[in-house]
Amino acid sequence: MTRYVYDFAEGGKDMAGLLGGKGANLAEMVRMGLPVPPGFTVTTDACREYLETGRVPGELDRQVHEHLTALERAAGRRLGQESDPLLLSVRSGARYSMPGMMETILDIGLNDQSVLGLARATGSERFAWDSYRRLVQMFGSTVMGVDGTLFEDALARLKEECGAADDTRLDAPELVSLVRQYKDLTEESTGEAFPQEPAEQLRRAILAVFASWNGDRARIYRRREHIPGHLGTAVTVQTMVFGNLGPDSGSGVAFTRDPASGRPGAYGDYLANAQGEDVVSGVRDAVPVQELERTDPGSFALLLDHMRRLEARYRDLCDIEFTVERGTLWLLQTRVGKRTSRAAFAIAAQLAQEGLITMEEALLRVDGEGLSRLMFPRFAASATTEVLARGIPASPGAAVGAAVFDSAEAVRRSAEGEKVVLVRQETSPDDLPGMMAAEAVLTSRGGKTSHAAVVARGMGKVCVCGADGITVEEHLFLTASDTVREGTVISVDGSEGFVYLGAAPLADSAVMNHLESGSPEPGDDSPQVVRDVHRMLTQADAARRLEVRANADTPEEAARARRFGAQGIGLCRTEHMFLGERRPLVEAMILAQTDGERETALAALLPHQRLDFTAIFEAMDGAPVTIRLLDPPLHEFLPDRAEVAVKAARREERGEPLGEYDRKLLAAVTRMDESNPMLGLRGVRLGLVVPGLVEMQTRAVAEAVVARVRAGGDPRPEIMVPLVGTVEELVLVREEVERVWGLVMSEAGMNVACPVGTMIELPRAALTAGRIARSAAFFSFGTNDLTQTTWGFSRDDVEAAFFSAYLDKGIFDVSPFETIDREGVGRLIEIAVSEGRRARPGLTVGVCGEHGGDPRSVHYFHRAGLDYVSCSPFRVPVARLEAGRAALRPAPEGEGD
Ligand code: ADP
Ligand code: MG
Ligand code: MG
Repeated sequence: MTRYVYDFAEGGKDMAGLLGGKGANLAEMVRMGLPVPPGFTVTTDACREYLETGRVPGELDRQVHEHLTALERAAGRRLGQESDPLLLSVRSGARYSMPGMMETILDIGLNDQSVLGLARATGSERFAWDSYRRLVQMFGSTVMGVDGTLFEDALARLKEECGAADDTRLDAPELVSLVRQYKDLTEESTGEAFPQEPAEQLRRAILAVFASWNGDRARIYRRREHIPGHLGTAVTVQTMVFGNLGPDSGSGVAFTRDPASGRPGAYGDYLANAQGEDVVSGVRDAVPVQELERTDPGSFALLLDHMRRLEARYRDLCDIEFTVERGTLWLLQTRVGKRTSRAAFAIAAQLAQEGLITMEEALLRVDGEGLSRLMFPRFAASATTEVLARGIPASPGAAVGAAVFDSAEAVRRSAEGEKVVLVRQETSPDDLPGMMAAEAVLTSRGGKTSHAAVVARGMGKVCVCGADGITVEEHLFLTASDTVREGTVISVDGSEGFVYLGAAPLADSAVMNHLESGSPEPGDDSPQVVRDVHRMLTQADAARRLEVRANADTPEEAARARRFGAQGIGLCRTEHMFLGERRPLVEAMILAQTDGERETALAALLPHQRLDFTAIFEAMDGAPVTIRLLDPPLHEFLPDRAEVAVKAARREERGEPLGEYDRKLLAAVTRMDESNPMLGLRGVRLGLVVPGLVEMQTRAVAEAVVARVRAGGDPRPEIMVPLVGTVEELVLVREEVERVWGLVMSEAGMNVACPVGTMIELPRAALTAGRIARSAAFFSFGTNDLTQTTWGFSRDDVEAAFFSAYLDKGIFDVSPFETIDREGVGRLIEIAVSEGRRARPGLTVGVCGEHGGDPRSVHYFHRAGLDYVSCSPFRVPVARLEAGRAALRPAPEGEGD
């Protein structure tokens, strides 16, 4: 016989899969002896079975009845009896918290008779009818499908007629008439009278909660949060306690620490004479929970005590819902509370300090995404800035600009130098120009994987999406209380998801300032957040096995990377050294027709390259610097082909002959035009067909090494060959590198080693890694190109064009350019690592694609056995933190549990 129902006394916090988070945590509180109104929980199994088969499991009714009888016996009252009735709440609760997404029905058991009994038993007629109208409203809309606004309208009308400022001002006769209206309304719109039988109310309420699992709101939320749709919800049935029994009653929500800053103490809201969602729904203004200390010091002291015990039990910040019924405190819910990034670091550090958790656990409680949010400038929190909306923090950072409502307007205003925020219901590829012109993007619809979110993240633009509290119209948007017209300045906080009216003052990130200072320890006057971050990073550095290097092309970047804790450069791209004022020198090299011309051009480039490398070696003294030979197609260094061609055509029209230079240029751009440059003449292929290129680059590196050694430095060069597909390519280039290296070293009378390795960024390279490893001192996975070539995706073309559609359709749940595709690209990585190391034991293997700074990918690289990740300097702290967490955590989140 399947067990579908568990009394609170039978559960515990580890049973969230079966009892839902709410049911499991209520049971835990009962176990702890905290004051929880008695009740029982119907399992998620029952829900799943009901949703799959469309039938109520036969056993369910019987088991519910059995538990109800036990509950009644203990209470000495029966559900809905005519005098002093037992009333119940029926509450949804899934394994993962989905606040407000499913239904709760309060005051089950009231009917035309028991409402009178309730009035007599409590001595408050007003309260009894207030509860009854709440039941008809919740049951009517949730179970019977009545449009909820009909109830709201009726209430608003009545308040107006009676001149009542809020619902507590309605007296008993007025509420009696409201209940009559509600019942009539229900019957009119459903053809069915409001059910008077308490057992029927209970049964239908349970099934309605089951069904709410598949409601639109819940489905959209699950999709957005990646919560599996098959889990189902549990249903908790609980004895009612009443916060609406008068001024000595009330209901509230509270956190054991401030979820924004992490500071200890009770934080929350309390509303006297209120039930259920009144406190959060804004029907009346709630007061800070500390007010309770004044009005009911006994309950407040108990509340603090209970919260302390809960924190100790959960060893984490808890968030609770409570009700005071005529001076008696009841706890109705608890869970580990959500918090801002800043609070996450603060709380983890405090709990470790208080000895509640270990430092290792503390490290697992924070994450790289949170750290990166703390590294962006923030809005200085201020009580005077008006919050217009809250949405999903989709792309971090803080931005201020005038609200504009279409792409063209964004482009127009930004061309005039105005800063704008593009506000749309949702974005499409047509909005790209506007998104590029805007400081930030705000949408009222769509989740973390909506077009707006994906593209904004890709561009590094601030984005808040899915701000469903606003309504976007053609030239304005509406909030509950404001109308924001085109041109109004708003502030968008993409790190926390807030939108403010006006230009909120910006504050530097203290964490960033500290990292930029490069000082190993925070000073005594450092803000708390800096010290908290520092402790976690120190812990991570002690725990991690992966080394963290940086992708840096300039001495400035190298220096910053070092301040941020990089242990070397994993990718130094030389192409950036060929741009700007040096472009003409590169052009001359490309246009050269004789060996002499080419040698002259290369000789002119050499000193520049040498100086670049010298400065980078200096910034990274004593740490490895992996220099990649020239990679991109050469036409990137030439003027645009169409431009050159048009210029030539114009000349011809005018009858002017083309000059020698223009003719050569036209010939070169025409010759080098490629229909698919990503797969064309680039990478190692350049080194093999452009004579002298490898020699010049090698010489520049070697001479820089000589210069650094002579200056007393400790350069650690490595040369890396890009886009190798077969070992033969590598062998040829490597011989050339070694030849030139040997020459320079022996001229200088030195013997500094320079390992030559290769990037693995083509599937063929991964598949033949065993052969390649025999000629490579190291591997570095170029996961950007490896992802492009494995999927056959041209990143620049696909991301804006159709990735949001792919994400919507669930083809993948995160872009493979953002988080490594373990199944495909990962498979190639694993093959290459194992075959490479088999051929060359001790082969150093790293990754230098952008994935090196992506938290989930870092965990993967740790498990794949890599030696280092290399990422942009700004991601270095994130990678350090995540590499530490990866070493402590056996199986990361989202990878099966
Ligand atoms: P949600 O999952 O949306 O938080 P809940 O099931 O917690 O919904 O119910 C919402 C509110 O209803 C609770 O915060 C509480 O105030 C009220 N509530 C639920 N059960 C009871 C009860 N047994 N007695 C009094 N109030 C209750
Ligand atoms: Mg709740
Ligand atoms: Mg590449």
